[in-house]
Amino acid sequence: MGLFSRKPERCAVCGAELGHRHRPRKEWGMEGLLCGECHVDKAKEYHEGRMSRPCAECGAVRKITDLWEPRWQWDMEGLLCKGCFDSKEEGFARKRSFCAMCGAKMGFIRYRPKPKWNMVGRELCRGCWDAQKAKRG
Ligand SMILES: [Zn+2]
Ligand SMILES: [Zn+2]
Ligand SMILES: [Zn+2]
Repeated sequence: MGLFSRKPERCAVCGAELGHRHRPRKEWGMEGLLCGECHVDKAKEYHEGRMSRPCAECGAVRKITDLWEPRWQWDMEGLLCKGCFDSKEEGFARKRSFCAMCGAKMGFIRYRPKPKWNMVGRELCRGCWDAQKAKRG
């Protein structure tokens, strides 16, 4: 604080200097802070399904009710349109059906790397799992 807090903070929507700072809700997918009035407005917009946001992937503006929250495994911010959500999901599923080490297509049986191997969210074929185990224990 002190020297660095001199610059007055402004509402992310109307640009008014902020007395009371209101944090936008997470589901609104907004950055910055809002003044009381804009906060109320946005809450109303959200509840009435009028709020729109750009898709985090392709940038197409959609009503927030038509946007999807990315799955936590994708490790991304923002909201996605249905098309991007679907293709993400498909890509993710495809990635998961291949061994993370050698790229071999995996059947039904996969092997989960041990936590200390630092490969969270990946899966390995039997051969690579054995090799890692031999190397890293
Ligand atoms: Zn405002
Ligand atoms: Zn999109
Ligand atoms: Zn492999």
